[in-house]
Amino acid sequence: MKFDVIVKNARIPQGHANETVVTNILIKDEQIAGFVNCIDGIDAVNVIDAAGNLVLPGCIDSHTHFMDPGFSHRETVESGSQQAARGGITTVIDMPCCTVPSARNVDQFNWKKEYWSEHCHVDFALWGGVTGEDVRLKQLHVVKDQADAGAVAFKVYMTPSVPTYPRVTDPELLEIAKAVAETGLSMGVHAENFAMCDFYVNKLKEEGRLDGPAWADARLELAEKVAIELGISISEATGVRYHVVHMSTSIGAKLIRQGKMRGLDVTSETCPHYLTINAQDAMTEYHACAKIAPPLRTKKDNAELWEGLANGSVDFIATDHAPYNIELEKTGRDIWTAFPGIPGIETMVEIIVNGFNDGKITLEKMVEILSKNAAIHYGLYPKKGSMQVGSDADLTIIDLDKEWTIDKDDKDSYMQNKYTPLQGIKLKGRVNKTIVRGHLVYEEGTGIISEAGFGNFIPRQNEDKLERKLRFIEYKPTTF
Ligand SMILES: [Zn+2]
Repeated sequence: MKFDVIVKNARIPQGHANETVVTNILIKDEQIAGFVNCIDGIDAVNVIDAAGNLVLPGCIDSHTHFMDPGFSHRETVESGSQQAARGGITTVIDMPCCTVPSARNVDQFNWKKEYWSEHCHVDFALWGGVTGEDVRLKQLHVVKDQADAGAVAFKVYMTPSVPTYPRVTDPELLEIAKAVAETGLSMGVHAENFAMCDFYVNKLKEEGRLDGPAWADARLELAEKVAIELGISISEATGVRYHVVHMSTSIGAKLIRQGKMRGLDVTSETCPHYLTINAQDAMTEYHACAKIAPPLRTKKDNAELWEGLANGSVDFIATDHAPYNIELEKTGRDIWTAFPGIPGIETMVEIIVNGFNDGKITLEKMVEILSKNAAIHYGLYPKKGSMQVGSDADLTIIDLDKEWTIDKDDKDSYMQNKYTPLQGIKLKGRVNKTIVRGHLVYEEGTGIISEAGFGNFIPRQNEDKLERKLRFIEYKPTTF
């Protein structure tokens, strides 16, 4: 048999902890067809040499806001997915809110899917949308409709986001939880208590605070804590799979850990910025360009969220990638009126790889939090998130030794609005090649290779319940 691609000299994770083997990966019809020790006599159309590098199952960013169609002055599906490819992300899962219109019913969902299919450089799945307005208008059938159309989860906001995506009140959250529970999908919640955030934003505004860290002081840790406590209670009451998106606090990780230990189906993700920078330093230096919601926290949170990833309290990493126009929406406004959001998809994988190089997590854990766990959580496994025979041939190839510095003006960056509060962070480990379904989509030095529209829509597969169950049984609380 002639293969389409051989990725030769591939060092892949195998076994436990930091164990690896060197193998040759055979690819046929965009899927992994086998692994062989020796490629003598094996014929292939293309051969990609991964010598000296680590090969991971394709990494997934399950929390993006590409803002397109509707806000192309911030980002487009093309520029966002080029950054994904540059950053070693082979599948993105986009949020339903930040397009015009928001994707909140099956027609909007399908329309977004078609639009993205024409523009995306990597594979993609989509969150479904549901809001407080859908509860009030008694149209919660939108949940099942979008689940049937292939949505992988549902996003709910407890605080205001965009006007076309109204937040929920507490009882509306409960009503949505009941509807989502019936689908078996996860309900991902922006977990901040609205009344507290609203009160303290107004209070600090009235006091005349205009410094950067004022934003973090107003959106206080307690607002996230009580929101997560409510979510866990709602999960217990309804059986819904409750997922905390972009969790910023270590107290959140402790609450999720306790929920897991009680047998509840509660999970969380954190973002690269919550692991690396803190409000006091970054919001003083970068002001509105470090404004996000929830806000940056403290160095203690940075360290304890790494521990949470290592011990399973935090299930995986995602970016909450949400760039804004620098002059119009960031630097031209004060800290209260600037829009909350930062780009991040280009450097998510490398920040985690750097943490691995620093000994914060094992290789086995790195694979879980960059790829496997999100694929399982969103029902894409083992098509995505795995290097099994029959899985899509999605591979992220990493040069573990390369040292470099995050720079908004990096010549290899595909950012449309070039700002990042991660500026100047030194990293060890850099994405060398990104392969989606056996096709090279990015190579360091060459840049983006894939065409816009190469990316496929990936609907939720039949969820691998056994994998999810195993993961919970394997969960071992530590002293965290
Ligand atoms: Zn988000």
